[in-house]
Amino acid sequence: MTRVLYGGKEETSEAWKRALLALRPGLDLVMPAENVPPESIDIILYEPSGPVKDMTVYRNIAAIQSLWAGVEALLDNDTLPKGPPLLRMVEDGLTEGMTDYITGHVLRAHLGVVRQQADQAREIWGSFNPPLSRDRHVGVIGLGALGQDAAKMLAKLRFRVSGWSRTQKDIADVRCLCGTDGFDRIIRENEIIVLLAPLTPETENLIDEKALNKMPHGVHIINAARGGLIDEDALLGALNSGRVATATLDVMRTEPLPDGHTLWKHPGVTITPHIASVTRPESAAKTVIEQIKRFETGKPFLHKVCREKGY
Ligand code: NAP
Repeated sequence: MTRVLYGGKEETSEAWKRALLALRPGLDLVMPAENVPPESIDIILYEPSGPVKDMTVYRNIAAIQSLWAGVEALLDNDTLPKGPPLLRMVEDGLTEGMTDYITGHVLRAHLGVVRQQADQAREIWGSFNPPLSRDRHVGVIGLGALGQDAAKMLAKLRFRVSGWSRTQKDIADVRCLCGTDGFDRIIRENEIIVLLAPLTPETENLIDEKALNKMPHGVHIINAARGGLIDEDALLGALNSGRVATATLDVMRTEPLPDGHTLWKHPGVTITPHIASVTRPESAAKTVIEQIKRFETGKPFLHKVCREKGY
């Protein structure tokens, strides 16, 4: 029988246990504290903040299933075995939660909520009317599990949506771009830019001073991916010059954002504490059970990480 080690946070262990056993009663799910022989583990459910630190002892594992969508912390683990596949978390709850966050913050940028609130604070009866969403250009950087769903929902809300990815995509009602030219177009042609690409050596500082200078004046940026995608000093400069009207940042280079950091109090910045979306055991258990079934029936795993590309 397949033995699965839960290596997530203690506080979510009961929820995971409940959700997994509901789908697969009798699953051999073990906790690190149970001290079973490490070589008897087939699949590790891994979370960087969980208790599994040294993976070298799990000599027979068939796969490491990340409980997070982002895998850069997993790839940074020095004890990561070279052989077994690493699996990203893709699950409906995580995807839908992210789409809720993105659509909410795109609408907020579109409607000029930050500007209205600034007017209200100064008791100004302003006259700003946003364009219709059909006339608003939104660019989504990263068209993976999360970016695609968000882009599709934005298109349903009638925004003019473009998306950018490494490989060319074909998504109904979304103008799909890729490559260097595609990047240039997505940053030049959109008034609201959403970041949903992983942090890799290629995407680190993707949004730097040069990129910011190509964006339309008054652009809105929403980063729900990783803080390292943005050069924060360049962003602050662009916020101060008005090039960037607002930045909604769920992720920072240093988390939690340090006390006294300029971003905390900048009037154009909305900080959310890395809560854009989260893996939900009740929906994510389906993904885990599917991976276990694939292991047992010799089918290829889903959502494999490419170690070379870093996502
Ligand atoms: P994913 O399915 O792996 O998709 C990543 C997308 O980024 C793909 O479309 C990929 O292009 C594109 N991409 C990667 N490197 C690129 C490059 N150099 N140039 C152009 N495009 C590139 O990932 P996901 O599940 O959608 O998640 C995206 C990220 O969201 C995660 O890595 C994580 O950092 C972040 N996240 C944040 C939260 C939060 O709460 N803030 C929650 C979950 C996830 P291809 O399709 O061509 O490969």
